[in-house]
Amino acid sequence: MKTMNDYCREKFGKKLYKLSLDGGFTCPNRDGTKGTGGCIFCSSSGSGDFAESGNDINIQIEKAKKRVSAKNKDGGYIAYFQSFTSTYAPIEKLRKLFTDAVNHPDIDVLSVATRPDCLSDDTVRLLGELNKIKPVWVELGLQTSKKESISYIGRCYDNEVYSDAVKRLHKEGIYVITHIILGLPGETAEDMKNTLLFAVDSKTDGVKLQLLHVLSDSRLYSDYQKGSFETLTKAEYLEILMSLIPLLPDEVAVHRLTGDGNKNTLVSPLWSADKKAVLNSVNRIVGLTEKHKGYVFEKIKKEEIPLMFSIILSRMKWMDEVGIDQWNNTFYDEVYPVSYYEEHRRAGEVFVLREISTGEIVSAAVLKSEDDRWEHIADYSTKSAFYLHNFCSRIDKKGTGKIFLDFAEEYARICEKDVFRLDSAEDNAVLEAYYESRGYIPKGFCIDGLYKGILREKEIK
Ligand code: SF4
Repeated sequence: MKTMNDYCREKFGKKLYKLSLDGGFTCPNRDGTKGTGGCIFCSSSGSGDFAESGNDINIQIEKAKKRVSAKNKDGGYIAYFQSFTSTYAPIEKLRKLFTDAVNHPDIDVLSVATRPDCLSDDTVRLLGELNKIKPVWVELGLQTSKKESISYIGRCYDNEVYSDAVKRLHKEGIYVITHIILGLPGETAEDMKNTLLFAVDSKTDGVKLQLLHVLSDSRLYSDYQKGSFETLTKAEYLEILMSLIPLLPDEVAVHRLTGDGNKNTLVSPLWSADKKAVLNSVNRIVGLTEKHKGYVFEKIKKEEIPLMFSIILSRMKWMDEVGIDQWNNTFYDEVYPVSYYEEHRRAGEVFVLREISTGEIVSAAVLKSEDDRWEHIADYSTKSAFYLHNFCSRIDKKGTGKIFLDFAEEYARICEKDVFRLDSAEDNAVLEAYYESRGYIPKGFCIDGLYKGILREKEIK
């Protein structure tokens, strides 16, 4: 995954710091042209809570530089017009503001946050002219591509307007960043994935994946107070990131993975205010997805349950062929029929490792939070755990079980489990040695029908 810092180092040879500026704009979604009251999530400052203010852009730049000077050792600056719709003004006003910013000697990039329906041909031409002086970035607020959500948030433009704007900006050589919100009311992980893939297909150059915040000065707050939706938990948010990050092509840079909600008006989720803890978890996920590029770990889809079952059947056949005495001799397919997997899928407990290039499942398992096989172990009820069951991988996809386990252990960490628990057949020395090498220590024994296993545990925290 390429971060904004990676991109800047590649292109400019240094880190760039954003100077948040306010061009004194409003927004067609607030002044009645398209709507009133703004998009449902937008704060009274037009999502520009950290922007400077004042008429003179050069003075704003100097003030903003002071704010980041302690952090900036040898980096450069981005003049970032963040508040409201930063192209919603007569062209002469835009020309003056943006030209002042571009001509400031310390500015490396002009970045303009706007709506795709506020990019007239004149504006795009102006940005193209400025792009010949210094690089221009345009940040488009897509937020979602799901029709119901577009109408709920009151975005007031169609998806096609966004893709068309990307094309027109690209014609001028302008770099496009797309803003996407994760966790909009009623959206599933699949909906968020569709939005990300829509932006990627539209050829965005960068993305900002912003967690939905409920701010007390937004329209969303009243729906939140009525209890009509809940914001994402930290674990849900990290799980979504785990399934989205691997889908990003190398050339699309990630400009943000966490949000910067104004702490004074943030109502929910409050965990997001602990930026350091969130970043630590996000960095672990990014590291893991980089290590296992080409794979995504996520919950199984309903229609994929028979596929998982067929992987188990072929494993049983394989055990017969290689002389392993386990699932093949314990009526495994009868003890755990398709209906068992479907029941656990409904509980959100069945996970797969998917090969991104083919979309195929290569490994799968059930991750339970309780397990009666462990009830006789002293600390069964005092430690929170995931219990690995029905762990299978395709015979022709060697090594994918290990990748699945890497992701599953990280998922347990995300869910703040104390330990990860599994068991291995007591006569399977190869598997025992493998689990030992991964840090799984024996905790006891279990008997399940004809199966005799060693219970094993690994500290996760
Ligand atoms: S998010 Fe952007 S388009 Fe929507 S109301 Fe706020 S400033 Fe306007």
